[in-house]
Amino acid sequence: MSPVLEVTNLRKHFVSKKGFPTPRTVTVRAVEDISFTINQGEAFGLVGESGCGKSTAARALLRLIEPDGGSVRWKGEDVLAARGPALKALRRRMQIVFQDPYSSLDPRQSIGSALIEPMAVHGIAEGAEARRRAGALLEEVGLPAAALDRFPHEFSGGQRQRIGIARALTVEPELIVADEPVSALDVSVQAQVLLLMQELRKRRGLSFLFVSHDLSVIRWFCDRVAVMYLGRIVEEGPAARVLANPLHPYAQMLRDASPIPDPSRRGVLPRIIGEIPSAANPPPGCPFHPRCIHAMPQCSRDMPAWTSAEGQNQGGVACHLHG
Ligand code: SF4
Repeated sequence: MSPVLEVTNLRKHFVSKKGFPTPRTVTVRAVEDISFTINQGEAFGLVGESGCGKSTAARALLRLIEPDGGSVRWKGEDVLAARGPALKALRRRMQIVFQDPYSSLDPRQSIGSALIEPMAVHGIAEGAEARRRAGALLEEVGLPAAALDRFPHEFSGGQRQRIGIARALTVEPELIVADEPVSALDVSVQAQVLLLMQELRKRRGLSFLFVSHDLSVIRWFCDRVAVMYLGRIVEEGPAARVLANPLHPYAQMLRDASPIPDPSRRGVLPRIIGEIPSAANPPPGCPFHPRCIHAMPQCSRDMPAWTSAEGQNQGGVACHLHG
């Protein structure tokens, strides 16, 4: 499989002034040198607790926020250097589906208008042809074409997310960045929307970057996964391997805290210990050491290097236990 997206040492810091009467500069290291690739047709998951930087990373690689460093390449083309028409063309290839479809839809804009607008911006279709395409897209995501004349408030959360997916598809993208796409939905609706995305992925040959805090969703949807902690990737590899036999103690904690379908195993699992530290003041050495039950003296001093996991294409881990 050939890579479509290559992210190398991507970095995003947020700098602000805090405190009174003498403000001091605070730097939040939201994304710190993360690297991964997504292959053609692959679903790649970014998983971690809230605040680990996964959504910031997704937005930075799309340049919805400008990254501070690193490289992003789409089929070899430099995304971060692109300007004007080149950037517009790249944006067409990579579309995002947001967590909250209601806030990403204009309540005063009809569904038809919301779907037709991107087609006009990218010169794909206009007038009756654009309306025909928009109706066909609604039907593809399981809604009637007549919904074109209705407004966002007339739909349920699941239906609005279907509309959000249809809008992403209007410009015929090759990669969908799905940022917690089902976490605001009821569990029964979550399954329907996930099934829809899986069908679209197969039918259209789409690649996915799937951002979620929910391991069960990642397990079901993704081929490979990267686990993020405090702005860094701490483990990466095939989803089946990482989620069944994680090497990093943080990934093990996430696995143990995620819902298990076997009722006899419920209630005896350890929960996630402690709180994620502030990305404005990360601990020295391994950023996970204050919460790690395996921490050694070396862990609070030295940042662990990246080590390949045993076996071909099994990914890698950043932990002194495996160095
Ligand atoms: Fe735990 Fe040390 Fe590994 Fe960090 S490097 S995860 S503190 S064992």
